[in-house]
Amino acid sequence: MQELQNDIQFLKGLGPKRAELLNKELNIFTFNDLLNHFPFRYIDRSKFYKVKELNEGLQNVQLKGIIRNFQTKGSKYKTYLTAEFSDDTGTIELIWFKGIKWISQNLISGKEYIIFGKPARYGRKINIAHPEIDKPEDAQKKMSSSLQAVYPLTEKLSKKGLNSKAINKALADVFTKLPAKLPETLPAYIIQKLKLITRHEAIKNIHFPKDNNTLQKAIFRLKFEELFYIQLNVLQVKYNRKLKFKGYKFEKVGDFFNRFYNEKLPFELTGAQKRVIKEIRKDFASGKQSNRLLQGDVGSGKTLVGLMLMLIALDNGFQASIMAPTEILAQQHFATISKFVEGLGINVSLLTGSTKTKERRILHENLKNGNIHILIGTHALIEDVVQFHNLGLVIIDEQHRFGVAQRAKMWKKNKRPPHVIVMTATPIPRTLSMTIYGDLDISIIDELPKGRKPIKTIHSYDAKRLPVFKFVREQIKAGRQVYFVYPLIYESENFEYKDLEDGLESISRAFPPPEFAISVVHGQMKPEEKEKSMNMFAKGITNIMIATTVIEVGVDVPNATVMVIESAERFGLSQLHQLRGRVGRGGEQSYCILMTSYKLSKDAKKRIETMVETNDGFKIAEVDMKLRGPGETEGTRQSGMPFELKLANLRDDYKLLELARHIATDVLEADAELTKDENQILVRQIKKMKTSNLNWGVVS
Ligand code: ADP
Ligand code: MG
Repeated sequence: MQELQNDIQFLKGLGPKRAELLNKELNIFTFNDLLNHFPFRYIDRSKFYKVKELNEGLQNVQLKGIIRNFQTKGSKYKTYLTAEFSDDTGTIELIWFKGIKWISQNLISGKEYIIFGKPARYGRKINIAHPEIDKPEDAQKKMSSSLQAVYPLTEKLSKKGLNSKAINKALADVFTKLPAKLPETLPAYIIQKLKLITRHEAIKNIHFPKDNNTLQKAIFRLKFEELFYIQLNVLQVKYNRKLKFKGYKFEKVGDFFNRFYNEKLPFELTGAQKRVIKEIRKDFASGKQSNRLLQGDVGSGKTLVGLMLMLIALDNGFQASIMAPTEILAQQHFATISKFVEGLGINVSLLTGSTKTKERRILHENLKNGNIHILIGTHALIEDVVQFHNLGLVIIDEQHRFGVAQRAKMWKKNKRPPHVIVMTATPIPRTLSMTIYGDLDISIIDELPKGRKPIKTIHSYDAKRLPVFKFVREQIKAGRQVYFVYPLIYESENFEYKDLEDGLESISRAFPPPEFAISVVHGQMKPEEKEKSMNMFAKGITNIMIATTVIEVGVDVPNATVMVIESAERFGLSQLHQLRGRVGRGGEQSYCILMTSYKLSKDAKKRIETMVETNDGFKIAEVDMKLRGPGETEGTRQSGMPFELKLANLRDDYKLLELARHIATDVLEADAELTKDENQILVRQIKKMKTSNLNWGVVS
């Protein structure tokens, strides 16, 4: 419909200046933009408050009563107008700083009015500034719908009088200026199947609800539509990929795998590890390219699964590669994996940012001629100069550190894209993984190796440091090792850096040499220094590791049994969980001690409580999402939400999301390339969304 592209400046109550402000502040240019600017709540105008019920904590309220006793106050330069407003329960003050003339000329003292506004406290008195005012008879007319939309607006807009009422008025005008009903955006068969109301009805009612029941139907339809198109989009990526790309077929499990399994594997695989390997082997043998998210809590043995999958690739004549997010982690994978495959005739190499130029040249050569079987590295791997002889499998560890775009780059390292397994230790609530990783298949390792004792988590206060130190000393005497972690969120900020420095000082005093030895690791150290320090701790030469969050990911020292997290209130939940995962990796009972000050915000308290209560990463992820919202959840923050949700909410609309995914799957099962007539509406809609929202590019 052409008219939807009309400029909003010609709408009632707007004009060029206000329109420009709406362009700038809210990106609203056209009728269509305005129609899609949804209210975030509704005010029930059928409800009247009484004066005695008012307090400054209330939002906008509606009252009925008499206005009298107008008084102009203030100085010569700045005047304002007040009036008394009373009902049968009391009196408050009304106050105007602007539009004084109009008010004093139009309101009649002693008459009954309906006022509407936000109560504020001034000294001991309650007042309402700039209330909306209606005569009772006019208000009655308005109440054909008692639910009034409240829109998200900015301060600049409110200052220019662009309030919810003004937006509503402009919207009413849009509806009078449209030549017909709004075009439908979902296929008829879906509307029928789910008994949805039409798009026109939905948009109309979200702005001007006829009644609560219709409003709920409008919200349902619009939320569904929003989630459905996201699901259709991610699933289409997946279906298309399966149609378009052939994958390398790994037909057999050969010597490398079998010899490792029979001669090298030092323990029994967990049931979950076995299941996941089986799932992925099926992918590999299918002839399709596999794209899988491998989720598993810290310590669940993902690296080992990754290694065994790489051995299958090797058995089929391919090379394999692991990409890790940090140098330390890459080094650690290199060390672990080299040791695991010792004597099997497998050539493992390491490539990171600090690999020397000369070494690098040789490495590139050996990679290209196939001498290197497994390459482990950081994002140095992504660079175009890194070329493989025959790359069959890429494992990306700790996915949330990498962008989706980086993941895609690894695809280009062979003629056909290699199989891609993305491993993440950040449990992600299902609603999120269904959306951000919606194009991936998902495997979950939901079982820890046998004999692991659950980590005991204790909350302690800064002021009660001595018993904590005493406990640490006992553990070290018993041969264990201990981490102290300090918050250092932005590693370049000096004031944060002080935290660790101070800590180092006080801990050196409490744990003096020669009885105790301390390692330090932080982000401002050179990689060699870091590595040296880490190694001293890993080898047990030092008993204490003082670190920042650089040790967060993947570090594996099974003899470390205590993790003391300083200023724990300053860490996010999933970060705390990740940190805690550094202990509890061996057979001994492990402890995580969360040190905080006495003063804790409500959210911080909830985070600490959750940590003390549970070791379950998925539960923690759910709480994290509740506290911070989906966009800020670890795992989304770094890779970014690939879309913006206007109405639906991944926290609350889980059922609806499942429905949307279910319907989208049905659509694609029946018509993977969306060529049927009835689905053309979907094709058009997806195209529109892709051109209107840049972020969508990230998904596909
Ligand atoms: P993740 O990467 O999932 O955090 P890792 O792969 O680093 O976990 O494994 C954690 C530790 O558990 C490692 O020391 C690893 O060798 C060990 N491990 C892995 N699988 C098993 C198993 N099935 N039984 C016992 N120990 C295991
Ligand atoms: Mg790991």
